[in-house]
Amino acid sequence: MPFTVKCLDCNHTVPYFPTATTCPRCESAWREAVYDYETIAQTLPAQLPQRPFDLWRYRELLPVRSPNPTLFLGEGGTPLIQAVNLGMMLGCPNIFIKDERQGPTVSFKDRQAAVTIAALKEAGITEMVVASTGNVAIAYSAYAARAGIKLWAFVTSLVPAVKMREIALYGTQVIKVTGSYDQTKQVAAEFAQQRGLYLDRGARAIPSVEAMKTIAFEIAEQLTTILGPPHIQNGTHPLWRTPDWYIQAISGGMGPLGILKGFRELKEMGFIEKIPAVAAIQSEGCAPMAEAWKRDQEIATPVSTPRTHIETLATGDPGRTYTLLYHHFHQSGGVFESVSDEEAFRAMHVLAKMEGISAEPAAAVAFAGLFKLIRNGIIKPTDTVVVNCTGHTMPPETMILGDGWARNVVLPSRVREETPQPEGLLAALNRVAPERFPRVAIVDDSPDARRLIRRILQSQGHYTIFEASDGLEALQLITREKPDLVILDLMMPEMDGFAVLEKMKANPETATIPVIVSTAKALTPDEKKRLEGQIQSLMQKGDFLSDEFVDEVRTSLRKSK
Ligand SMILES: *Cc1c(COP(=O)(O)O)cnc(C)c1O
Ligand SMILES: [Zn+2]
Repeated sequence: MPFTVKCLDCNHTVPYFPTATTCPRCESAWREAVYDYETIAQTLPAQLPQRPFDLWRYRELLPVRSPNPTLFLGEGGTPLIQAVNLGMMLGCPNIFIKDERQGPTVSFKDRQAAVTIAALKEAGITEMVVASTGNVAIAYSAYAARAGIKLWAFVTSLVPAVKMREIALYGTQVIKVTGSYDQTKQVAAEFAQQRGLYLDRGARAIPSVEAMKTIAFEIAEQLTTILGPPHIQNGTHPLWRTPDWYIQAISGGMGPLGILKGFRELKEMGFIEKIPAVAAIQSEGCAPMAEAWKRDQEIATPVSTPRTHIETLATGDPGRTYTLLYHHFHQSGGVFESVSDEEAFRAMHVLAKMEGISAEPAAAVAFAGLFKLIRNGIIKPTDTVVVNCTGHTMPPETMILGDGWARNVVLPSRVREETPQPEGLLAALNRVAPERFPRVAIVDDSPDARRLIRRILQSQGHYTIFEASDGLEALQLITREKPDLVILDLMMPEMDGFAVLEKMKANPETATIPVIVSTAKALTPDEKKRLEGQIQSLMQKGDFLSDEFVDEVRTSLRKSK
């Protein structure tokens, strides 16, 4: 399989060998793999239907001569999942999640590890050094174990203990460095040099960047399966679709670098028409790239003391990776953005409750970025967006769940000893939850909207929920059940929300029940006037997050007391 490595500084091109890490002509460490795209464009499409959906499906575009099946752990081929509830909440229906938690070491680093370890094994390497904020070391450890490569993992002492134990479990020697991640990288480099060991060079390592391309390939294929083949454009017929946006939480920025290379290669081979814009999201306490981008600087000023709880994203000095991304973003579209730890934790909670996806805080940074970019109007409601859910290698933080996230059932000892008596069990259960919950009526003609509101309420508290799908049914329900709160849609056929509200107010039995109006359309001044003084609050559909909505519900219920 012919492929070569081209120097980014002097264009000098040489055959690839994993241990040769610099350009022989100018000594630059920044190079990229080049393949015979013309031949691959002709041969690959016919091959794909026979190949399993995993990372090695695109082997002609990877820097490994013959993929070694004995190292395989199921890398790549993660699902692309539509985020229906998030889409409804945010008013942006085409949001897809590339679920990288479903890789063998539950983060997208297992792609990097699979390709790197395969390339090193091929080159006869038996011992290596890596510096990591956690997930790279976990992924490399798993693959190194299979390949019989001894691994030294240098991690900062801030890496959560569960991650350290996982690294050690695979038989890797963990070296904890009390210092920043950038300092840890330096220590690892000195150690490797002293011992003459292979050092993983992050974004400058050919296999790492190449591995990340497979995410781009998979997204293009999967989006085409889900949304159907792309339209003919300017007479050419692209094979696959691409999203308008690819969003990822970044630390050193290797993911976007590799993914953009993947999309560029697909375009060069004529498989796609358009390279997506990339949104690269950093944690506010360590956001050298987002800061430089804001000032339109080509070079990022390193952050020497990162201030974030999200250790995975604590690369203070992105070096040249930022500059490379800066130029790519100017060419094919893209933004850097940052979010606070609190925003990330909140997004993590929303994602779990609304989509059933529990991600680690680092991955949630991408979702917090998504929320922000939609709110700022940078991502449009009609855009197709793919968010990389990069990993889940940590249990949910106490910071997110707070106290009282579980209720205890303590059975009386008599019940425990004998066969449980139903009365004893019931008495114990009654202590777990009160008998009467706030009663909420949801009135909306769209079953999807009712399901969304029901889900939001269920996931953030205890409510007795009633539903009505039209105005007449709603009035009957409200007079019969006397709910503590009505959530009312305005636009319904036959009797609309305005009419329901008037009738409620005209009946002394229902006149004082608080009402939250949820509406999809912008109201005219006249309509606003009709609602004035009649309702608790007005929520715009597709423009609230679940917890904002619940805040409104709680406030209204408190007022009704
Ligand atoms: C490594 C990692 C990132 C950052 O990736 P880069 O593209 O290298 O900046 C984000 N999230 C998770 C879970 C990671 O493991
Ligand atoms: Zn060179």
